[in-house]
This record gives sequence, structure tokens and C-alpha cells, in this order.
Amino acid sequence: MILALAGGVGGAKLAEGLAAVLPPDELAIVVNTGDDFEHLGVHVSPDLDTVMYTLAGINNRANGWGRADETWNFIEAVGQLGGETWFRLGDRDLATNLLRTNALASGRPLADVTHELATRLRVRHRILPMSDDPVRTFVHTDRGRLAFQEYFVRLRCEPRVVTLEYAGAATARPPAALAAILASGRVEGVVLCPSNPWLSIAPILAVPAIGAWLASSGVPVVAVSPIIGGRAVKGPAAKIMAELGADVSCVGVADHYGALVGTWIVDTADEAEVGRIAALGPAVVVTDTLMTGPEVAARLAGRVVAALRD
Ligand code: GDP
Ligand code: CA
Repeated sequence: MILALAGGVGGAKLAEGLAAVLPPDELAIVVNTGDDFEHLGVHVSPDLDTVMYTLAGINNRANGWGRADETWNFIEAVGQLGGETWFRLGDRDLATNLLRTNALASGRPLADVTHELATRLRVRHRILPMSDDPVRTFVHTDRGRLAFQEYFVRLRCEPRVVTLEYAGAATARPPAALAAILASGRVEGVVLCPSNPWLSIAPILAVPAIGAWLASSGVPVVAVSPIIGGRAVKGPAAKIMAELGADVSCVGVADHYGALVGTWIVDTADEAEVGRIAALGPAVVVTDTLMTGPEVAARLAGRVVAALRD
């Protein structure tokens, strides 16, 4: 069994590749819930849904979030009635969010609800929230302490990041199904997907039972750099790195994770950086990591699995 830790877009693309090369009983994807929030009466889980829609083959590739073939009648009507429209919810996506919200309100854990929704969408690999307990990312910035979606969507990541807070993480527990996997002794390796290290992976590692297990289990950890040629493929990773004083490169990402990662997979564009990463300790594999489609993602996933089993 391989555990992949993932956020939204970058995580989902590699998760799709891993799902193409591993059978369902050999892969579980642990997803960030630090971006979750309650909005217009529904519980939104952006990263869980991005992974779920991607594995179901119904994700919106153009937007990078939400469902393909979406319509926007609901959010347009909300605007017409004077409601908030800065966070867009598509009509089909709203169905997911409403069913999740109702199930949570009836007391069901987020992991169960996620499993049921994913199963309905014929996803065969297990998608697990990092916790059923609420964890909420707050971004401390030059404009104050901002709830994640305020920072990310409403303010388009413009404020300067000072530090990050994963509220609730210290007391969050992994869902029962994930705790069972961690205790099973069956995990042969962990993949850090090319997700935002501070916004997507850090909240997962901040769940104490996950972070402690990873630090002590001794299983190999392979990571794919989300930074290619000094830039993020999408999103604020490079901007945040610069604001936090890190070297904006795959070397800076490797330095951030330190001894946690045994093998780095970096892009061919970063071949010249191999020596600097190796000097930090890990092994380095160079390959194409820009996942322009499912075939590239599956090829990259094959390299990831080979590195874990090497
Ligand atoms: P979010 O939750 O939707 O922001 O998504 P993630 O945190 O999972 O992913 C965002 C990160 O994915 C960014 O830092 C991107 O640079 C990275 N990323 C997106 N697509 C790719 C890709 O094809 N290859 C690599 N190596 N990184 C990618
Ligand atoms: Ca996210």
C-alpha cells in the first residue's frame, strides 16, 4: 500500500497517475482539508473534491477546480438576490456540497461521506481526508490574519504571507480508516505529491498522528517538486516561498522538507540543481514532471513508484 499526500490541482494530477499504475488496494490518497470552509450554508471541501472529480474523470481542466460541463445558474441567482458571489459554486458541484453538508449534519464523519460520494462517482481508489475533525488554515499576512479562502479566492493571494496557522490541527485525529492503515504495517511508501508545501502538505503533516507516524515509521518517502524552473505551475507557491525567505527553486522545496524526503523527483528543466539537492542528503531522479495530461501523469507515477520500491 502506497500513501499519497495531496492538495488540489497538483496533487490530483499525480493521484490520477498513481491510480492508473496501482490497483485500488495498493493506493490511498490522503487529502488536505485545511482549505475547507462553510459558505452559503454548505461545507466546501475544495481539495477533496478536486481529487475526487479528477479520479472520476469529470474535473474541469480549464478552471483547475470544480466539475466539467458545469452551469452557473445557482451562483448567478445568488448574485441577483444580493448574496456573495466571490466564491463560485457550480450547479453540479453544489449537489456534492449539499449532500456532504447534510450527511455531516446528521453526524456522519467526513471520511465516510467522501467515500460514499467517490464510490457513487465510480472512483475505485480510496480518497481519505486527513481528518474528520475540522482543521482550518489561516494566513497571517501584512493585511492581518485571514481565513484561507479570504486570502486565496477573495484577495487572490495578494497579501504578503508572514506565517501560516493550521487551526485545529494539534487536536485533529486521522479518520478511522487512515488510522487503521497507519497501524497496519502495510504501508510500503509515502508520496508527497507536487502540491503547495505550505498550503496543502503542511496541514496534513500538522495532524499529530500523521506527522509522528511519518517521522518514526521509517517507510521511504518520495516527493515530486511543485516548483519547476523556479516557478510554480499554478498558484502562489513561488510567491509564498519568496515571502517566507526561501530559495524559490526545487532546492528551496527540498530544503524545506529536509530529512523527511528520501528521494526527490525534479523536472528535466532543473537538471542543473541535482547536485545542490543531493548535497542536502536525498537521492534525486530527473524526469518530466509537468503533467500536461493523464498519460504524462501515469508515466511520472511509474517513476515515483519505481523510486519507492527501489
Ligand atoms: P491546490 O490545492 O489546488 O492549490 O493544489 P496543490 O497544492 O495540490 O497544487 C498546487 C501546486 O501544484 C503548485 O505549487 C503547482 O506548481 C503544482 N503543480 C501543478 N501542476 C503541476 C504539474 O503538472 N507538475 C508539477 N511538478 N507541479 C504541478
Ligand atoms: Ca487547495
